Amino acid sequence: TQTANISLDPRVEAFLAGGPKKLFIGGEFVASASGKTFETIDPATGKAITSVYEADAEDVELAVQAAEKTLAGAWAKVTPSERGRLLWKLADLMEEHAEALAQLETIDNGKPVTHARVADIPLAIDHFRYYAGWSTKLAGEVINNSAGPNMLTYTRREPVGVVGQIIPWNFPLLLAAWKLGAALATGNAVILKSAEQTPLTAIYLAELIQQAGFPEGVVNIITGFGPTAGAAITNHPRIRKVAFTGSTEVGKLIMQQAAGNLKRVSLELGGKSPNIIFPDADFSKAIPGALMGIFFNQGQVCCAGSRLFVHKKVYDNVLADMTSFASKMKQGNGLDESTEIGPLVSSEQFARVSGYLQKGHEEGATSLTGGAPLDGPGYFVPPTIFADVNERMTIAREEIFGPVVAAMPFDDEAQIADVIRRANDTEYGLAAGVWTTDLRKAHKVAHALEAGTVWVNCYNALDAAVPFGGYKQSGYGREMGSYALDLYTQVKAVWVNLD
Ligand code: NAD
Repeated sequence: TQTANISLDPRVEAFLAGGPKKLFIGGEFVASASGKTFETIDPATGKAITSVYEADAEDVELAVQAAEKTLAGAWAKVTPSERGRLLWKLADLMEEHAEALAQLETIDNGKPVTHARVADIPLAIDHFRYYAGWSTKLAGEVINNSAGPNMLTYTRREPVGVVGQIIPWNFPLLLAAWKLGAALATGNAVILKSAEQTPLTAIYLAELIQQAGFPEGVVNIITGFGPTAGAAITNHPRIRKVAFTGSTEVGKLIMQQAAGNLKRVSLELGGKSPNIIFPDADFSKAIPGALMGIFFNQGQVCCAGSRLFVHKKVYDNVLADMTSFASKMKQGNGLDESTEIGPLVSSEQFARVSGYLQKGHEEGATSLTGGAPLDGPGYFVPPTIFADVNERMTIAREEIFGPVVAAMPFDDEAQIADVIRRANDTEYGLAAGVWTTDLRKAHKVAHALEAGTVWVNCYNALDAAVPFGGYKQSGYGREMGSYALDLYTQVKAVWVNLD
């Protein structure tokens, strides 16, 4: 089915009514300096939802000026306790608007609304609440030194200043929250650029930020394209830090651009995560876990378990069960509450993933289910399980970012070295999964995997309190938990001569 079966929340209708959606700069909704706009597309239908203003360097400059003004004025006067209260207020407003946010995310991104309701939106709300708590817990330290009995030394954790944040389209609201929470709790002012494919929930969030009462210019939200608005952020000499989530390819461009002005960079990039099923796994958990690990969000998840290593003793059974489940998943418009898997986000992503399906067949893999894109309207690719995969194939090496898993057997039960070597044989290192009931094996494998997150007998578990980020070319810096505070603060050492 490609039709919706829920009625739209009136707040979504009101939001979408009227002209192009505006940029949020200096506490106001404004047209872009150029007056240019672009359309955002509903991937379930291929039709335009509405249009948004297209920001460029001039708009970024205005946002920087607004951010600098408040850093030197209103925002600097807001106490940590008040910062926490504002973040908490924002979370409350998001909760009030949760259904509208979930529907808007589905219309813009394609994801099933039932998933947006239980994952994207509540996790984003919780994220702001978590960081609201940190506002009042930032501290420096007094350090004993050897410079003399009358020398007092202490440190302060100060905000970095004007911060740029660039996010992708797969979890538009949640990733905006990941970026904003820690940056605001630590007292920075922000310019956030949403992805051009999914600008809408960030603009809705801007309305709630305005309502919550943050001083003007503390949060500026712009919509626009990477090489123009995005590059204007990374190239701007007075933006002192950029936090980026997106592809490894663009992550490298971000570093190059930021090198010219030496701004701090943190990167959350792509992955090709291994998910390893040992023969002693609890299959009632491992099979649904492996399915969810790759098909959640249509496989458009940076930490998707896209390389599935299954012990040869259980390989045939695991794949048969997975195939049976996957072939019955209900695919359709995300606004239909029975939909389990929606469309891909855009025609470009549809073409990209379709290309990988073709490549998989050409290189000799066999699709046990799926394997070919569906006819439109909409950008639907069915859940696909590839068997007969070897590790040199493109589908086993490159990030597909779609509902496509490459399954491979392994056969070293006593010795785990071989499967670990194969799991680590990638330039990526974002996440990994291990399924076993042997406690010793679980920890040994978890320690040996080169990944920023390892899930044991679970997959895709995330929490605002637990750090997330990559090894190797999956990026560096850790978001979430106390770790993200380091990204957004700088340490000042103060020496006081008491003589
Ligand atoms: P992308 O890299 O194409 O775009 C991401 C963002 O960067 C967009 O806002 C885009 O406009 C901007 N951008 C593009 N070119 C730019 C440039 N030259 N300068 C500045 N900004 C620029 O990624 P995508 O296709 O939107 O998202 C998919 C990728 O994101 C996947 O590789 C996925 O693994 C990754 N991802 C990683 C995480 C993580 O936490 N590690 C989370 C989600 C997605």
